[in-house]
This record gives sequence, C-alpha cells and structure tokens, in this order.
Amino acid sequence: MLIDSGYTTHAPLTLALLASERGLGGAPLALVANTHCHSDHVGGNAAIVRRYGCPIAVPEAEAPFVRRWDGKALLHDYCDHRVDRFGVDREIAAGSRHVWGDLEWQALAASGHDMSALVFYNAEHGILISGDALWENGFGFVMPPEVDPEALPATRATIEMLAGLDVNVVIPGHGEPFTAAGAAIERARLRLDSFARDSLRIARHALKVNLMFTLLERQRMALADLPAYVERVGLYREFNAMFFRMAPADFAEMLAGELEKSGAARTIDGWLAPARA
Ligand SMILES: [Zn+2]
Repeated sequence: MLIDSGYTTHAPLTLALLASERGLGGAPLALVANTHCHSDHVGGNAAIVRRYGCPIAVPEAEAPFVRRWDGKALLHDYCDHRVDRFGVDREIAAGSRHVWGDLEWQALAASGHDMSALVFYNAEHGILISGDALWENGFGFVMPPEVDPEALPATRATIEMLAGLDVNVVIPGHGEPFTAAGAAIERARLRLDSFARDSLRIARHALKVNLMFTLLERQRMALADLPAYVERVGLYREFNAMFFRMAPADFAEMLAGELEKSGAARTIDGWLAPARA
C-alpha cells in the first residue's frame, strides 16, 4: 500500500517509482491512503487508480470535500494548484486501526495545517508517518486566526499529542525520514510561539509557500502577469483584502521580493524563477 501520492505533475515519476524494484516490482497495489487531500499529497491518486485499479482511502472528515471536489476546502483551485480528480472508496476514521504491510497502524487526528488531517502511527516500532503535521524543520503552513480561529490552537494540540508518542522514526510528508523527533517537536513549538505573536507573519508565510509551490510547478512566472494573478487566485486576493490592502502590483512585487530575499527564487529578465532551477 502507498501513503500519499505527490503532485499531479510528478505522476509519471510516482508511477515509475512504484513499478521499480525498490517499489512494487510486479506486485499489485492494494490501497492508497492519504494523510490529507492537499494537491501535493493526492496529485498522483488518479494516475495510480488508472494503472493499478486500487481503492483510495482519505480521512473521513475530508471525504465530502473530495466527493464534491471542493476546490476551496481542499485548497486546490483556491491556491491555483492543479490536481487530477479522483474518487473516494474508503474513509479513514480518526482513532481507527489498520493492518498495512504486516504492521498495525493507528490513524490519529492531526488537525492544524489541515483541519481533517491524519497521521499514521505504528506503536510496535515507533514509526510515525506525519504528513504535514510535523516535519524535521516545522510543519505545513497554517491559516491565520482571522481566516480560521481553530487552526493555530489545533496545530498546537497536535504537536503536543505527537510529543506524547514514543517515536523512533518520523516519515514526514516532505523531506527525508528522521529520528530526532523530540528536537523537531521543540522547533515546531518555537515556530508556533512566533506565529501566535504575529498574524501577519502567518499570512505572509502561507502566501510565500503557496506561491513557491506554484512556481516550482510552472518553473517560471512572468513578473508582468503577477499583479493579475494575485487578483485572480482566491488565496492571494482574499489575504490581500484581509491583511495587506495593497494595490495588486505592489502586493505582487512584495511577494516576489520576499521569495527572492529568502533565497527561494530569483528574478531574471522579467521572470520569477526558482533559485535552484
Ligand atoms: Zn498539506
């Protein structure tokens, strides 16, 4: 079985990895289970179903959004992330237990970054598959209190829930597996403290990671088109109206400038591009 399936644009790579000897080889695939339904975790689902005909399982609370393909609740259209549509075959309830790959896994509620997210925990070996709830250095972006007053408290509660688990290795939704779970939890707490003091910082962080995400997918975006882009795409338009109240051109320039300043992107000849392209 497979947990999370990457970006839709990376679906050919995901299929190649699955088919490789490191993956399934020639074996069938029994199930895809998703920690949550953001575009970078479910983007390969449709292609995998076409290839393997296996069922797709999503967190119970997220299933209605997937069934009606709610581009705002799933942060797909709302953030301008492209995802091939897929269906839901099974719903995973928080607190449920599953035998996957000869191990028993508990599905634990891990709301915050995504309010319906789950993590999967194997107590016998102390393995935590954490999705975007905990990375080695942080966690997935969180909505500011003005957008969702539950998001930050939920993120904190999730981090404290994870702190109470006996974890030997974390397999995160982004980055390499890591063993120092305690240090990662401490870094997550510090980030939460700094977020709690500054809503604008949370808003800027959410915009930056989403713009970087789109930039990585497209590889470049014309600076001249950015003002219209931040007006057209819901996340940028609504966050600007709520937090920044800037003219679109100034807002676009600020976002591009912040990506450049952080070293994630660069501008060349009127284009914004990933720094490591
Ligand atoms: Zn996510």
